Amino acid sequence: MATPGENYLRIRQSLAEDVALVVAAKGRSVAEVAQVVEAGATIIGQNYVQEAQALRAELGEGAGRVELHMIGHLQRNKVRRALPLFDVIQSVDSGRLARAVSQRASGVVRAYVEVNVGGEGSKYGVPPDDAEEFVRRMSELGNIRIEGLMTMEPYSEDPEEARPYFRRMKELFERLKGVELPNVRMEVLSMGMTNSYRVAVEEGATMVRIGTAIFGPRPT
Ligand SMILES: *Cc1c(COP(=O)(O)O)cnc(C)c1O
Repeated sequence: MATPGENYLRIRQSLAEDVALVVAAKGRSVAEVAQVVEAGATIIGQNYVQEAQALRAELGEGAGRVELHMIGHLQRNKVRRALPLFDVIQSVDSGRLARAVSQRASGVVRAYVEVNVGGEGSKYGVPPDDAEEFVRRMSELGNIRIEGLMTMEPYSEDPEEARPYFRRMKELFERLKGVELPNVRMEVLSMGMTNSYRVAVEEGATMVRIGTAIFGPRPT
């Protein structure tokens, strides 16, 4: 069986150079993540503030070379702890969270807007139809710079079923790119996971987030 480091390299080499690869590390040990960092990973995605804290503290040498991205739902009461840990918050999913981040930040925070592209009740994110208005309001907050969009598409065994959602995100991304606002510079379209990243890249993802294909099935 291939190691996480080998899996990372294989996937990295299969992607075009200008597609960023986020290693989705939720539930993985620091030792496992360290292997992937040693193999060259530069962006680690975390869903939980606590795991990110442990990773920052224990990664040692490697920590300086990696960006940590928050990709899970961030509770407002964890914002203060989260801010010093993360380089990017990919999961800005509500106006209340955005305001909390902007108020508590001591500098400009890099962020993506999470879009609930499938309109699922079980997922966080801004409805696609509200995204432009949302970005306009973000633009006025001061301490947040919007650099992209992130989405989790509705899960399906067949990644082809995700294609229309990815296409919709790409259209939204291109439209928002054309909107000139202070503190907004749309550069990243973060979409596609283990099961779906190939289709996401075909549809214009500039960043994919992969866990299972690197580390194996999550321990339950
Ligand atoms: C877990 C997770 C991923 C990676 O999912 P895999 O199917 O394990 O590749 C990507 N994005 C988010 C937001 C996640 O929580």
